Amino acid sequence: MDTTREAARERDAADPLAEYRDRFDVPDDYYVDGNSLGPLSDDAEDALARVVEEWRDLGIRGWTDANPPWFRYGEHLGDRLAPLVGARDHEVVAANSTTVNIHTLVGTLLNGLDDPLVLVDELNFPTDTYAVRAQLRNRGFDPDAHTVVVESSDGRTIDEADVEAALTDDVDLVFLPSVLYRSGQLLDLERITEAAHAHDAYVGFDLAHSVGVVPHDLHALGVDFAVWCSYKYLNAGPGSIAGLYVHERHHEQTPALAGWWGHEKDTQFEMRDTYTHAETAGAWQIGTVPVFAAAPLDGSLDVVHDADIDAIREKSLALTDYLIDLVDDRLDDDFSIGSPRDPERRGGHVAIEHPDAARITEAMKDRGIVGDFRPPNVFRVCPSPLYTRFEDVYDVIEELRDVAETEGYREYALDGDVT
Ligand SMILES: *Cc1c(COP(=O)(O)O)cnc(C)c1O
Repeated sequence: MDTTREAARERDAADPLAEYRDRFDVPDDYYVDGNSLGPLSDDAEDALARVVEEWRDLGIRGWTDANPPWFRYGEHLGDRLAPLVGARDHEVVAANSTTVNIHTLVGTLLNGLDDPLVLVDELNFPTDTYAVRAQLRNRGFDPDAHTVVVESSDGRTIDEADVEAALTDDVDLVFLPSVLYRSGQLLDLERITEAAHAHDAYVGFDLAHSVGVVPHDLHALGVDFAVWCSYKYLNAGPGSIAGLYVHERHHEQTPALAGWWGHEKDTQFEMRDTYTHAETAGAWQIGTVPVFAAAPLDGSLDVVHDADIDAIREKSLALTDYLIDLVDDRLDDDFSIGSPRDPERRGGHVAIEHPDAARITEAMKDRGIVGDFRPPNVFRVCPSPLYTRFEDVYDVIEELRDVAETEGYREYALDGDVT
């Protein structure tokens, strides 16, 4: 691997996605935190402006006469999200938030079980654990007695073999992330789905850290359900509407959190007292679709679809491979890679470990490089492929080398203030 700046420039010149950067307002010189909050694109901004205009011009008629009609905004976005996760149109809807979607989907499947056992992992994002345990508690079950927690042997990754070993016939539901938020490990969804189904367990995934950067094939794998948010790699903005997938074989199930927005669409406005849920993923909507939190996603999906998810994944892996090579080649031994080196096991970001990662993250921010710190020792760097150049990665690692060599981070207090 040629680790010179010249080589980085050559790769940028040959990058088929290079032009996509122009569609974004990237807020910092080096914004490598797009796995937490993606930046604004012109497309997202225009889509948001359009619904504001529709509200101005149409008022209540926007529900039926806007383009797309607000009444079907969740389904409209579901159709557009479906190819990114490998689902049929009616298996996906944009709705609620990720946490709420975990509550309603895990809750729905728990409703049919009288002595449930849920398999989770110890490295998942906290909200996922909170929601699963709350759903058990709400049904009168002790969460400790009704969960199996797969442990990590290295504090970074989950071994699929350990998931398989923990899967007994007593397990009813497996709920795991696709990509771990700290190490960036991409789990083998196919292997886990097969193992879960071999034990007659349902399997669901949280795709928050993979949707928009890793293509998925949920329907073909037979995954039972999935949830994700749209403000990370999908760049739909803070608090933007989340997404969910429910395999069509479950569409007759009654959602745990019922609401009129999940009602059969044709009769929703008849305002009946009896609840007839839609027989699509749309049934897991709850209340009125938050149109202003949904519209930016309509715009940002234009960017993703124009670029094509397979091309996005290809560039993402090229960027993270390059980043790992630079860390190996240019940084001292206090730095190490906390993400899988095998590209097939890696999502879109890289965990760079260093004993002083907290202060280094702060020092980097003052140099215009915005990544983030994840305790205890991870500086997370996400070269998001739609707006990050190879030369940006080169510069980020050069700055990191400089901060370490000059010990420029030592003046930062651990609470992030400059001392
Ligand atoms: C970002 C993220 C969430 C966020 O959930 P919200 O309901 O949007 O706050 C949940 N789970 C995982 C794994 C995430 O990475």
